[in-house]
Amino acid sequence: MERVLFLAHTEADGTLGKAAREGLSAALVAAEGGSLDIGLVGAQVDPAALAGCPAGTVRTVTGPSFGVSRYGTDAAAWAALVRASSPTLVVAAGTARMARSLPGVAQRLGGCIDTQVTGLQRVDGAVQAQRWYYRQRLVANLTRTARPWFILVTPGVLPVWQGSGAAPALEPLPVDLPVGTTRTEVAGVEAASAGAQTIRPDAALLFVAGAGWTKKQADGQAHPEQAATLIAQFLEVTGASLGSSKSLVDQGSEGEAVLPFLTHLNQVGQTGSTPRHPRGLATCCHGEEPHVVGWRFINERRVVNLDPNCGWARGKADVLYVADAFAVIRRVNELLA
Ligand SMILES: Cc1cc2nc3c(=O)[nH]c(=O)nc-3n(C[C@H](O)[C@H](O)[C@H](O)COP(=O)(O)OP(=O)(O)OC[C@H]3O[C@@H](n4cnc5c(N)ncnc54)[C@H](O)[C@@H]3O)c2cc1C
Repeated sequence: MERVLFLAHTEADGTLGKAAREGLSAALVAAEGGSLDIGLVGAQVDPAALAGCPAGTVRTVTGPSFGVSRYGTDAAAWAALVRASSPTLVVAAGTARMARSLPGVAQRLGGCIDTQVTGLQRVDGAVQAQRWYYRQRLVANLTRTARPWFILVTPGVLPVWQGSGAAPALEPLPVDLPVGTTRTEVAGVEAASAGAQTIRPDAALLFVAGAGWTKKQADGQAHPEQAATLIAQFLEVTGASLGSSKSLVDQGSEGEAVLPFLTHLNQVGQTGSTPRHPRGLATCCHGEEPHVVGWRFINERRVVNLDPNCGWARGKADVLYVADAFAVIRRVNELLA
């Protein structure tokens, strides 16, 4: 039986973000047959964010100092919440803010931590954490005997908790901030991409552009401007997130023509990212293994490629359309416009 503590930071309006609510789903699984306390930190906490949540004690640490992501104040708040609850298991969503501060807290409190956990399950009463290794090629289900065991759940793969009913009573927890904890001042938040925002983690669809978009086509010419227009239109009408193969983004640093709104941040794969979307559409991308390992968490996969023997055809996609992506995307844009 585990005494579980779920930790989360609130959004500016006091509510819980999507990643936090995914973390709460995991905490509820871990707490089956045991108990669940909750600790929330932020400028303010809206109790309605937890309406209907079957939690024991809900403690809060609030105030202007706790509204920003800062190691000193966050670590002090998480440590106080853990001490107040004495849990065996601490579960939180692996947001940037949590990932920065919780490992240090585990160290301070003599616990251990696993990050990038993609699922929690109970087997014979024991909690098992699922984690991928070697760039998402091997999966392990692991347990630990050390306590307190801290678990950071990777965002985007678990169900989003939603409840309704009575809001829980909140128990404010005063936290003394030792000198130096507010030394770092947060000046503001700057988006990663200065140009068109093409990386959309919450999009239902991942659209991947491969190097074929800039290769010579049937008329013996390359048409990168046409490719850029078609892809930009597609992203606009579908709201999809833009991913890329390494070959395409590398061309930019080698001085060749690429899509103007593409950077290495868009790269999916072994040396790129592992995005999480329900569906994916790869176009003009060969589907080589170092690229496809980045598709681990894309559930339904479709591909447009001229080559019926491309890598995707070897069991890596659900549907392969052997077709010209220029023609297909142009027609799709017309239909969706
Ligand atoms: C250690 C290592 C790490 C790597 N990490 C990554 C990584 O993180 N991400 C990654 O992507 N790659 C990675 N790679 C590179 C990877 O192996 C491939 O080289 C790369 O993914 C190929 O990109 P591509 O499919 O876009 O290009 P290509 O292999 O050139 O394929 C282009 C495709 O476009 C198709 N095509 C052309 N015109 C059209 C058209 N009009 N309509 C439809 N299809 C068309 C062609 O048939 C072809 O299949 C890595 C390699 C190594 C060795």
